[in-house]
Amino acid sequence: MKKQIVVIGLGRFGSSVCKELHSLGHEIMAIDTDPEKVDALRDYAAFTVIADATDENQLKSLGVRNFEHAVVAIGDNLQASVLCTLMLKELGLPKVWVKARDLQHEKILHKVGADRVIQPEKEMGIRVAHHVDSEKIVDYIDLSHDYSIIELVASGKMANKTLVDLNIRVDFNCIVLAIKRLEDVNIAPAVDDMVEQGDVLIIMGHKDDLKRLEDKAL
Ligand code: ATP
Ligand code: ATP
Ligand code: CA
Repeated sequence: MKKQIVVIGLGRFGSSVCKELHSLGHEIMAIDTDPEKVDALRDYAAFTVIADATDENQLKSLGVRNFEHAVVAIGDNLQASVLCTLMLKELGLPKVWVKARDLQHEKILHKVGADRVIQPEKEMGIRVAHHVDSEKIVDYIDLSHDYSIIELVASGKMANKTLVDLNIRVDFNCIVLAIKRLEDVNIAPAVDDMVEQGDVLIIMGHKDDLKRLEDKAL
């Protein structure tokens, strides 16, 4: 479904968010104080606007209150990022996601009502560390402190076995949510579905169990 999203701050992070959402077919208003940044996004947003997102009157006259989702990526200017977030929440936007520089910034943003705070360098660092730790893991999502979802490439050892043969649920207490084979995604795979070498298994479980699964079974 097409969404209306306002992206504020068009540095590397904000412009990347904007371009990707645009290519996914969403309607974007892209805002920055810097005319060059705004101009560079002209082909990637329905509306591009040179404006100060800490100026309440400007936000109001742009009709920002009608958007359901905002992504605030005002780099290192902590004051501007906090003020903008506060005003967007006061204008009543249901979803305000904000890029933070560090933990302190993140805490303040939560206090002023940010619905989600992202620390891209930290989060990407964690993902990269997991990829380095296990080259079999192609992707990784943290569900909580203890649980996560991983994408694991099936080794030769796992090939031509069914999920029953692999016994992942019983031996490792993990759940195979889906199996990806090239462009095909088998969601909710059946117990007698066969795994082929190179398949990507999407598996959910306790981190300790996932680690065990990865080390021992594969
Ligand atoms: P990167 O993603 O490149 O690391 P960053 O988050 O470190 O970016 P900058 O590169 O500084 O941050 O980009 C932040 C953008 O936000 C800049 O283009 C800047 O002009 C814009 N910006 C700063 N203050 C405001 C404001 N009050 N209103 C709108 N845009 C702003
Ligand atoms: P962030 O992920 O926070 O955005 P960044 O990629 O923007 O980081 P910096 O914060 O500048 O980069 O961190 C780069 C680090 O690399 C610094 O700690 C710096 O001291 C270190 N560094 C820079 N040059 C060298 C070098 N020649 N040899 C070793 N370390 C270096
Ligand atoms: Ca930066």
